[in-house]
Amino acid sequence: MEKILNYINGQLVEPTSGKYLENVNPAIGSVYGSLPDSDSGDVQKAVQSAQAAYPLWSTMPLSKRASVLLAIADLIDRDADLLALAESVDQGKPLKLARTVDIPRASANMRFYATASMHMSSESHVMEGEAINYTTRTPIGVAGCISPWNLPLYLFTWKIAPALAAGCTVVAKPSELTPMTAFLFSKLCIEAGLPAGVLNIVHGLGNKVGQAIVAHPNVSAISFTGGTVTGKTIAATAAPMFKKLSLELGGKNPNIIFADCDFEQAVTTSINSSFSNQGEICLCGSRILVERSLYEKFVNEFVNRTKELIVGDPLEENTRLGALVSELHMNKVLSYIELAKQEGGQILCGGKRITVSGRCAKGYFVAPTVIVGLDQYCRTNQEEIFGPVVTIMPFDSEDEVIGYANSNAYGLSATIWTENLKRAHRVAHQIKSGIIWINCWLLRDLRTPFGGMKQSGVGREGGWEALTFFTESKNVCVKL
Ligand code: NDP
Repeated sequence: MEKILNYINGQLVEPTSGKYLENVNPAIGSVYGSLPDSDSGDVQKAVQSAQAAYPLWSTMPLSKRASVLLAIADLIDRDADLLALAESVDQGKPLKLARTVDIPRASANMRFYATASMHMSSESHVMEGEAINYTTRTPIGVAGCISPWNLPLYLFTWKIAPALAAGCTVVAKPSELTPMTAFLFSKLCIEAGLPAGVLNIVHGLGNKVGQAIVAHPNVSAISFTGGTVTGKTIAATAAPMFKKLSLELGGKNPNIIFADCDFEQAVTTSINSSFSNQGEICLCGSRILVERSLYEKFVNEFVNRTKELIVGDPLEENTRLGALVSELHMNKVLSYIELAKQEGGQILCGGKRITVSGRCAKGYFVAPTVIVGLDQYCRTNQEEIFGPVVTIMPFDSEDEVIGYANSNAYGLSATIWTENLKRAHRVAHQIKSGIIWINCWLLRDLRTPFGGMKQSGVGREGGWEALTFFTESKNVCVKL
């Protein structure tokens, strides 16, 4: 049994209550370890140690701060195989995906922000003959970072790297469903010599630990990635305290396929954008909109290739879809498939739980599911399912598809497939989403702003946006 501990003031410690939650391996469907059931008392200790560490960390020479973060990145690379295995066991994702995407990206996040912080510059504004203004940026203080279960270490580091690089000290909470790699990460922080209290990781339930971090008066900023409903609760708690907020929330992203696309690329990438990580990526293109003249050909090819995807033991090299993260989430996904049927949808493939033979017989597997025949405005097409389920709908004109794409409360990302350059730009311009991919998907340059419009969030992460989020600017006006 693997026992996870909190990381507070540089030490791995038991929760104050002495209570633990069960940690489940979703591919096996059984408990394989425990994690602290922490409470506001643990959060209080974490905030105090973050406050105590702040003067040292926030004034440390940039190069020295960066060198500690770079050392952590190197240790992630050293332990990449171990971390990938831990991520796969904890989350259910294919080991191959964790090895090629999640873990390399975690060290890339650390390296990107460690080095970026050394290139930050401040501004000055001259009032001719009258005054000079200069603007300083100072770290905001103790930051709260709360991350979800779908890309555990990838998104955890995506938040704490810019916070630490900006000079903040941090109290962080990974998802209770996937705490393992954050725990292993805390050991790497100790080994790398991160000063005590600079990063504190408190494990436990969202409505206890997460809520206590958000509500704590000495936590100045909250960076949160998770569901839209949780985001609303966080905003309601933080707003009266005037905390700085960055909210990366859900998505229901359109994948628009025009008849003049590169068909092979569009189908191949759409399989990935539909089913990677079991569809548990906020950027998955779960609403596929195909121009009518290509509709039948696309649907046939897409369904044939979906049927070939291997669902099974995440540790097997040829597995494309592993287990969903929990039994609860699997049941939610299955309930949406039932809803789609009630709404008149026709299931072309999948549509049910899969029983995998061998050690994974009790795991939470769902067959990749393709649904057609649904109205654009039904609940299946409006609500985030966050599983291996896509709908495909035909469209007749550019205006019509733009309307469909924007007909949703979310606005995180969109993908457009066309060889017509003018149309690509025209459509991209009119879609209300924070991220648009043309003839590709999930191609990420860490310098670009990342985040959603409408109910998909507030603020942007990535590049300078994340670094400046964790700072306060101050203008000093000097009369000449
Ligand atoms: P949740 O909103 O349920 O949880 C996210 C994190 O918040 C978890 O650590 C959770 O803890 C914690 N939490 C829960 N309740 C509270 C609370 N009241 N106060 C503070 N923290 C709380 O999301 P999921 O983990 O289910 O993640 C899936 C969602 O995340 C999807 O909607 C997905 O679209 C979105 N997402 C968005 C991304 C983006 O960049 N826009 C990227 C990835 C995912 P616990 O797990 O213990 O409940």
